[in-house]
Amino acid sequence: MRLVTFCKSCGHDNYFRTLHTNRFDFAMKNGKVITVKCSKCGKTNQNSVNELYATKRNKLIAIVFSAAFLLTGSVGYYLLQFLIKPTMFIHIYLASVIGIPSLVSIVFQKSEMDAVNLFNQSRISE
Ligand SMILES: [Zn+2]
Repeated sequence: MRLVTFCKSCGHDNYFRTLHTNRFDFAMKNGKVITVKCSKCGKTNQNSVNELYATKRNKLIAIVFSAAFLLTGSVGYYLLQFLIKPTMFIHIYLASVIGIPSLVSIVFQKSEMDAVNLFNQSRISE
C-alpha cells in the first residue's frame, strides 16, 4: 500500500510507502501532521493525516504476477521432464502457467484493496 499527498503549491502527487493499515497507527507513529517535501517543486507541505489517501501498488502487483509466472513456468517445465508422455500434460502446464499467477495476483490485489479501503475509510480526530 502506498500513501499519496498532493503538493499544495504545484499539485504534484507525492507517494510514500507505509506498513500502517489505518490512520490511527500512522498518526500514533508519525504524528497528526506530517511534513512532505514535494519531489517536483521542492516545496515543503504540511499535511494532516486525514488528508492522506491510500492507493494500491500496481507495480508490485505486476511484479507478484511476473514472479508467480516465472516460478510456475520453471517448476512446471521441470516437472514435465519426469513424465513419460509430457505432451499429454502440455495443456495442463499451459493452463497452470496462466491460471496460477492470475490467482496469486488476484488474491494479492484483493488484500491490497482491503488495506487501501480500510485506510481511506478511517479518520482521526484532529
Ligand atoms: Zn510541488
